[in-house]
Amino acid sequence: MELHLPIKLPLGEDLLRKIVEDAKDWGLMHGVAIRPTDNADPNSLAIAPHCLLPSPIPRADFDELTRIQPALNLLMHKVAHDHAFLEETLKSAIQYDDFTRKAYEVYEAVRNEGFTQDVSLGLCRSDYLPDSARSRYQQVEFNTVATSLSSLSTRVKELQSYIMSELGHADLLKNMPDNDALNLMCLGIVRAWEHYGNDNAIVIFLVEDVTFNICDQRFMEYQLKIIQPKIKVRRVKFSEHSCFSLSSGKELIVNGEEVAVAYYRTAYSPNQYGEKGWETRLLIERSKAIKCPSIQYHLAGTKKVQQQLALPNVVERFVSDPDEAKAIRRLFAELHPLDFNEEGNKAYDLAMEHPEKYVLKPQREGGGNNVYKDEIPGFLKALGKERPAYILMGLISPTPTKNYALSRSNGPTPPLVSVVSEFGVYGVILGSPSNILANYQAGHMLRSKLDGSNEGGVAVGSGFLDSPYLV
Ligand code: ADP
Ligand code: MG
Ligand code: MG
Repeated sequence: MELHLPIKLPLGEDLLRKIVEDAKDWGLMHGVAIRPTDNADPNSLAIAPHCLLPSPIPRADFDELTRIQPALNLLMHKVAHDHAFLEETLKSAIQYDDFTRKAYEVYEAVRNEGFTQDVSLGLCRSDYLPDSARSRYQQVEFNTVATSLSSLSTRVKELQSYIMSELGHADLLKNMPDNDALNLMCLGIVRAWEHYGNDNAIVIFLVEDVTFNICDQRFMEYQLKIIQPKIKVRRVKFSEHSCFSLSSGKELIVNGEEVAVAYYRTAYSPNQYGEKGWETRLLIERSKAIKCPSIQYHLAGTKKVQQQLALPNVVERFVSDPDEAKAIRRLFAELHPLDFNEEGNKAYDLAMEHPEKYVLKPQREGGGNNVYKDEIPGFLKALGKERPAYILMGLISPTPTKNYALSRSNGPTPPLVSVVSEFGVYGVILGSPSNILANYQAGHMLRSKLDGSNEGGVAVGSGFLDSPYLV
């Protein structure tokens, strides 16, 4: 079913010209912005790609997906602490995928030594697309590492509220749900910092050499200072290996300061590791600092784990309440392993016969890594023994809606376009294997892409920040 905003579209040309200008000025002045990838000049920011208007989402789906987030956080947490499950699930992927193997080796090293810090912090996001065939939302993936856009999602809701009121629709604002993602995600970091228990210990943001999604990160830093002015935040490049050391008591020391919380905004992709990246990762993991994410949370967020959880009776192993297990299972799309066994061979045949129904995913994060539809057969055939490091997923086909997609490259009166929207729910979890200190839903994200494009990363320019309008 196609959903609409109760607004007459397209907007008249004069009104559109004015309102696009309004949106860009409001956006730039309130940080709906990124540092352009073609110009990392620290003096400049550009408007972040965003939709002019909110996009419709059924209220019942919004309510259910936000309700269930703590159960998903807890499921991930339990998976992360079930060694036998992680070992069994990842064994084929680590054999053939270098990146997952290296992460697993860090995990094994820390596990053998004994975890110095048994508390992990998860700032997660479960992503969904509405499937038009099944008329419900299906989970795209569960992110546990460097989950982004919580700040910009909070801001873009404010931007679109301003636009709706400028368009004379203040009466409709009640259908745009509040989004406190920025604050709620930061509260997780503050709670972890408090748990660490040393007012002088710092929070580090581990970052890339050049950060393009700078507003999203900086807003978190500023919000942390608002919630708890005693917290000192340092941005530290993950590549600067010599900054990091361990004290004799295994405190993590960065440039002479003790670290309470190590928050990763990088280190989810092989190209971010450089020469000494894995040494740095191991050093941080061995330390007393609370990691966001710890290596076991990182591994629990792999696509392989997602696929394994979708097999019969696996979620049920972790979720004791049968109704909740059923509710979680309803979210799963079609997922298949690609091991060299009967099941994997069947999945291979499915993909070869009906590639238009599938997406092939490696154990990677950050967008741009998947293989879609008719590219699958050639790719699969060329794959050798590394096939088990991939999973096969049924394509979810959303029904498009209409919107204006703004970015720094559009003209003064952009065309009305068809977009499809991916809905994400943020979650915060803090705890040890035996004790959960915090577990809550932490706001949401909506990210739209032009109908027909495979992926919609905002930082890479193919996705547009958006926010829900409940219908
Ligand atoms: P990443 O960890 O790189 O973000 P995702 O699994 O989220 O990997 O895939 C990237 C993008 O690809 C998603 O944001 C979505 O736009 C698209 N995508 C992924 N899986 C599916 C699917 N099953 N059906 C339709 N689109 C998908
Ligand atoms: Mg994703
Ligand atoms: Mg991801």
